[in-house]
Amino acid sequence: MKFSQPTAAREVNRLRVLNLLAGTSDYSRADIARILDLNKPSTSEIIEQLLNEGIVEETGKKTTATGRRPTSIHLKSDSLLVLGVDMGSRNTSIGLSDLKGNLLRFERFPTNLRPKVEELCRDVIKSCMKMAKLTSLPIAGITVAVNGVLSEDKQVLVSNDIWDWRDVPLAQAIETNTKIPTSLVNNVEAMVNAHTWFSEEPSENFLFINWAEHIGCAWVSKNLITSEHTQFGHLPIAGTGLCRCGNIGCLETVAAGWAISERHMSKSVKQISQAPSDLEREDLINACQSMAMALIAASAITGCDKIVLGGGIANLEDEYLQHLIAFYRQHAHSRRSQIPIVRSPLKEKAGLMGSIATALDTWVFKRSLLNLVKSQEH
Ligand SMILES: [Zn+2]
Repeated sequence: MKFSQPTAAREVNRLRVLNLLAGTSDYSRADIARILDLNKPSTSEIIEQLLNEGIVEETGKKTTATGRRPTSIHLKSDSLLVLGVDMGSRNTSIGLSDLKGNLLRFERFPTNLRPKVEELCRDVIKSCMKMAKLTSLPIAGITVAVNGVLSEDKQVLVSNDIWDWRDVPLAQAIETNTKIPTSLVNNVEAMVNAHTWFSEEPSENFLFINWAEHIGCAWVSKNLITSEHTQFGHLPIAGTGLCRCGNIGCLETVAAGWAISERHMSKSVKQISQAPSDLEREDLINACQSMAMALIAASAITGCDKIVLGGGIANLEDEYLQHLIAFYRQHAHSRRSQIPIVRSPLKEKAGLMGSIATALDTWVFKRSLLNLVKSQEH
């Protein structure tokens, strides 16, 4: 798309206004024109368009110091909904959300260890159709977060090594059945999107680790995400231990949920952490130390300002996170040792909220497109 074309430029301005109105404040037409440096006629034209779409509304009269009272405009958060789906290793979650990210409906069911394509797709489609039937409001689109490599157009799951899925036209299958536009997002990228979308102070240059059944990593630098191919979980950290990738001593063999479970009679990490034996506790601490070592390497290479941890193992009792942080601070180079290491505030909902944040971006607000336009202007 060439942004110099008038229709594209108008669309970009429409999106800029919409994103401004998605914030917490109310603005008058004059405020919007001033803040976004638009002329008054085009601002009014865009507002008329948004009012016609029903996505914004005029409310009350805004009182100003001079006594003039222009109407203020704000987003109508329940005018349009999105559906987010998180196809996780342990659970699959589906959520119906309004434009502010408020969950209106939520459903979760366990994911099989090695799910068959047809079965899991059928269950997801069924849930989406059920959710869509429960509301009379329009649904702008569905976004599905899933582990693996995706096609460039975000329609096909090209490969998921964990489930051994290849070339699955997942988005099309859902779209055909639900009649709602659908796209896919890599699960770690989705969690990063959730962090950026819902966090009060998103950082510009950070590492996001999904520490769960498997270990994923995304590096975010100036709004660009590198995630699908990092293979952070396969950094060689230990001397022994056969990884599912075929190599020996990967981080996953020490710290991934599947590996910890295998060592303790298939108990989940959550079960282990609730009343651990000495041996189990030692194993979890060992997992924290290995994760810390891998983070030291990743932080040295990327020069990130912050590390954000998401996923089930990151959300275990504080003791474990504290252990990881202490080990990191003790062994990282002094110039890297004090960067913040924090949990994702969305906790166990990070994956689902990630699919919702991505759906809001893809189907309504297109903030990543605006960021792209901005970066091309500089
Ligand atoms: Zn490996």
